[in-house]
Amino acid sequence: MAGGVVIIGAGHAAGAMAAALRQGGYAGAVTLIGEEPLPPYQRPPLSKAWLKGEASADDLLLRPAAFYAEKSIELKLSRKVVGIDRASATVTLDGGETLPYDHLVLATGSRLRALAVPGVDSTGVLELRTAADAERIKAALGPGKRVVVVGGGYVGLEVAASSRALGASVVVLEREARLLARVASEQLSAFFARCHREHGVDVVLGASVVAFETRDGAVSGVRLADGRVFECDVAIVGIGALANDALAAQAGLACRDGVVVDENARTSDPAIFAIGDCTQRPVPRYARSVRLESVPNALEQGKQAAAAICGKPAPKAEVPWFWSDQYDVRLQIAGLPVDVRSTVVRGDPQAGRFAVFHLDGEGRLQAVEAVNAAPEFVAARQWVAAGQVLDAGRIADASLTVKQIVDSASPAAPAPR
Ligand code: NAP
Repeated sequence: MAGGVVIIGAGHAAGAMAAALRQGGYAGAVTLIGEEPLPPYQRPPLSKAWLKGEASADDLLLRPAAFYAEKSIELKLSRKVVGIDRASATVTLDGGETLPYDHLVLATGSRLRALAVPGVDSTGVLELRTAADAERIKAALGPGKRVVVVGGGYVGLEVAASSRALGASVVVLEREARLLARVASEQLSAFFARCHREHGVDVVLGASVVAFETRDGAVSGVRLADGRVFECDVAIVGIGALANDALAAQAGLACRDGVVVDENARTSDPAIFAIGDCTQRPVPRYARSVRLESVPNALEQGKQAAAAICGKPAPKAEVPWFWSDQYDVRLQIAGLPVDVRSTVVRGDPQAGRFAVFHLDGEGRLQAVEAVNAAPEFVAARQWVAAGQVLDAGRIADASLTVKQIVDSASPAAPAPR
């Protein structure tokens, strides 16, 4: 069997890339190898619609299961790659089977950071990464259940909102002095703390978890370093994710908090690509390399790698973006808040509709965090890409439409390369 393209991983990045290869006219063999039993599925609904019972298993799938056979894409599910031999261009699976490749793609994703405290292995201490994890959480939630969420990041806050919708009482324990500390501005952190509290969540900041208390092997509470104990029926831990780059490192590929790739998603070996959460990737707009944990990033890199393998021109670079849904709040973020010198709020956080604009020292728009403010988000994606210089007074002026913000603003300054 000819090697073709072997993709390690069968998540969002892998599934989208396999489809992009066929769309790009790639006629060779395409094989996806995934540790989970499911064909590629979407993770974003797991903490939201899926937990709330608003999505079926089929809704989660990236493509209908029949798609892969129709497109001659082979799925090897519940299988694990244990080694890469670059000299012979083969991968070895658990069980000893070897597969040759012409091009190898690492779409190995990220894994959850573990909370190494006593009691973490007891019944009722759960985490959320896979559909199976989400199924366990769903079974444990319900009216009257007492839920303690450890970690006030996206996982923690989305699960908190879904748990409230299902009638559970919820405490969120965040180690930092504010929610979303790693991924959002102070204005946004303050907004989400207020929003969750208004929905009845007990948000505890500066909370350092030292142990899970247990009764008959099941979790009964979460203990903090200051001695406080929050009693619970279920504890859900969401304290961040780490790149799955061990296979790549073992194979001698350059890794630095993720597999290092170029603007075509190519690793330090020209026959091997890497896409999605597991990569350390350049973002030309900001002239730096970052690791991004998001679906849009996975899709963009899948397109880059597919284009390179199909011999097509590289797709246009995209501005990173993210979203999160909690209660009736839609958060959308365009760009990365790097080299920020000033921050301007447009709209009213109290009213639940506003956007935080982040400008660099020359007034160039670096990022926008939009809360229920789709027009600001849509415009910001273009302005960030163009390196648009904006006037702070016009951003904040609610009498101007979003479009009017730029009308008398300076022309776009060239973004750094
Ligand atoms: P995250 O955004 O990194 O948030 C984890 C939070 O937990 C951080 O604020 C972290 O603080 C805190 N923390 C760490 N150790 C702690 C401890 N011992 N006690 C209490 N808090 C602690 O990661 P996440 O929310 O777990 O998300 C995991 C992955 O899922 C990420 O890839 C995320 O992007 C993805 N995800 C994304 C979305 C979305 O985009 N809408 C939704 C769900 C999941 P420190 O910064 O101090 O470590």
